[in-house]
Amino acid sequence: MVKFFGMKKAVINNEKIILKETPKITLDGRKGAVVKVLGCGLCGSDIVKLVHKISKDGTVLGHEIVAQIVDINSETGFKKGDVIVTSHHIPCGKCVYCRHGNVSMCEHFKSTNIIPGGFSEYVYLSEEHLQNVAHLKPENLTCEEASFYEPLGCIVRSIKRSNLLDGDTALVIGLGSIGVLTAQALKAYGTNVFGCDLLDERVEFLKSFGINAFKTLAEDFKADAIFMTSGADKALTTALKHVRNGGKIVVFSSTPHDETAYPNNEIYYRELTVTGSYSPSPADLKDSLELLKSGKVNVADISTVYEFDDIQKAFDDTMSNRIMKAYIKIGEKQ
Ligand SMILES: [Zn+2]
Ligand SMILES: [Zn+2]
Repeated sequence: MVKFFGMKKAVINNEKIILKETPKITLDGRKGAVVKVLGCGLCGSDIVKLVHKISKDGTVLGHEIVAQIVDINSETGFKKGDVIVTSHHIPCGKCVYCRHGNVSMCEHFKSTNIIPGGFSEYVYLSEEHLQNVAHLKPENLTCEEASFYEPLGCIVRSIKRSNLLDGDTALVIGLGSIGVLTAQALKAYGTNVFGCDLLDERVEFLKSFGINAFKTLAEDFKADAIFMTSGADKALTTALKHVRNGGKIVVFSSTPHDETAYPNNEIYYRELTVTGSYSPSPADLKDSLELLKSGKVNVADISTVYEFDDIQKAFDDTMSNRIMKAYIKIGEKQ
């Protein structure tokens, strides 16, 4: 009798996510590791890729994985049975982008990935992943908590991009999961943080972490740096109003309409700096894991857990703002 070693993966199919049975990923003599995915966070960028049809049918989304090594051929110290976190892209470290600190613009960074993608029962990680961006999951974190390793890495990078001084004031606009984590991380780095959002429950949620949060800020409130986790028109107006002269606006979200522009004269006469921040470097990811491990950033109540079979519902609930962040439980630890 022929035994079928299959696995399930979630693929895009006609603007929906469906589960599909495929042959199980194997190492096949390659270097690297095959990991059993225990869970994977659903990132805002996954939603954008689905809704704006950036990714084709058949694509497996997801990159915020926590996984257990089931087969390995590597020069690293990782071994079979280890539970790890990893991110998906690795910079070359040598190109013009890498040398200027824009690792997420690196061609190698963009070409590397986890295969087939995080929303899959098994995933192949290259030796490069193991050497640069994979770490053992800290014992004191649940898998769900550890899945914030990559998104928090993006946040660490955005904070580094702002070059804030000790005791500076920062305003986080938009208090979804990324906003709440950004505010917590800023606080951990010694910044005087304020958050704002149009939704009462989000304002209250940030306050529960001991961080000042408002629906509207005092007219004369000024911040040294503004973190844009929302790309709405109103968020832009708020940012320009509350950034101090000479201050920074860190753009950390997409906007529904591409023609949105920052006014030239405000930037010029007020000497503002507008800076984008996209994806993290291996060093940012290390810092992220430290923030999670130390409890300085608390992610315990941010995500909602979904079974793999309910992945479409996880997408729907995220898009309709019913939840802050979805974590898809995919496999059990062996
Ligand atoms: Zn992500
Ligand atoms: Zn590079």
